[in-house]
Amino acid sequence: MTRNATSSEIIAAISAVVGDAPRPIALHEPLFAGNENAYVKSCIDTGWVSSVGAFVNRFESDLAAFCGARRALVMVNGTCALHAALMLSGVQAGDEVLIPALTFVATANAVVHAGAVPHFVDVEESSLGVDPVALRAHLQRIARQQSGQTLNRLTGRPIRALMPVHVFGHPCQLGELAAIAREWGLQLIEDATEALGATLDGRPVGDGRHTAVFSFNGNKIITTGGGGAVTTNDEEGYQRLKHLTTAAKQPHAWAFLHDQVGYNYRMPNLNAALGCAQLEQAPRFLAAKRALAAAYARAFAGLGGLRILPSPPGTESNYWLVTLLAESADQAWLDATLHALHDAGLHCRPVWQPLHLLPMYRQHPRSPLTRAESLAQRIISLPSGVRLGLPLLPA
Ligand SMILES: *Cc1c(COP(=O)(O)O)cnc(C)c1O
Repeated sequence: MTRNATSSEIIAAISAVVGDAPRPIALHEPLFAGNENAYVKSCIDTGWVSSVGAFVNRFESDLAAFCGARRALVMVNGTCALHAALMLSGVQAGDEVLIPALTFVATANAVVHAGAVPHFVDVEESSLGVDPVALRAHLQRIARQQSGQTLNRLTGRPIRALMPVHVFGHPCQLGELAAIAREWGLQLIEDATEALGATLDGRPVGDGRHTAVFSFNGNKIITTGGGGAVTTNDEEGYQRLKHLTTAAKQPHAWAFLHDQVGYNYRMPNLNAALGCAQLEQAPRFLAAKRALAAAYARAFAGLGGLRILPSPPGTESNYWLVTLLAESADQAWLDATLHALHDAGLHCRPVWQPLHLLPMYRQHPRSPLTRAESLAQRIISLPSGVRLGLPLLPA
């Protein structure tokens, strides 16, 4: 086995890319370089700051066009958008939802918010997403179909949906996973919160082929402060989702008529104004991030036991976070390296702790999770802010 590179070799490689940018360098940070001020000011000047307004409509149509989907519905954050998408797809109390063990905790929390039970499955190394081969084997082992439902034979609960994640903007093997979902009669929802602008088979992630969810939190590739969205080609589903997330209020000039328990999940105009300005710059942000990832790949090319994780075959990552992947799992090496990087003012991060190791998810159903546990000791996310990539673009 190759020795993992030392901290000083890693610091030198990162420094070769980021140059003399002032330390500390954040993992990610927003960049406001366009019409943000003008659009937000116009909300304040006109008084349209809350959950209806011209920027909400415009952000929804601009986002749908950017993704190539028929519809986009914008909401207060990505977690709420995941919750709403789960409800839309018919996930109910007591159902199980298959999600990867290696993801941000919000993926699992949204399942719990829908009253359902996260069921953790293992991931693959090339995309860091759900491993279709392992998933198929797991379902064959633990699931059975009965009167049109797929049941977990160990818990007796229905397995209703599969929610894969495009981790760090690397598209997962969606075609394979959709085939498995069809075979087992599962709903498919994409957690694309990290993947705006990534492509899969030449088409953007979230192009409406499945229900997909985005986040515009401050650390994501574009931001609305807090925000999220669902994209879909399903017009009827879009209308139901809009109703559900607007307090289930029926249209009427003055009366308050509500026909179910609804949610106050719609994005305010103030945030959408920021989103419109950010989305105008998204092509340039994406170019900068791809240039940054390419520069890191060159800088790390000669280093032992390490590589920059490239876009999986047939995809183009948005490189939301550039991933440095070690060949061998070594927690002591990881801890020492992160320590040294922080001391050098380079705010790198490990990947999330696999969710089945968190106290609230320890007892949850799961497949063998050896790859998720190994990857958790092998990943370092490098400083990936758009600003770091801009100087690398042609003038
Ligand atoms: C950011 C993120 C979310 C949640 O989005 P918020 O807008 O922060 O609520 C969910 N899942 C993953 C994988 C994320 O990275």
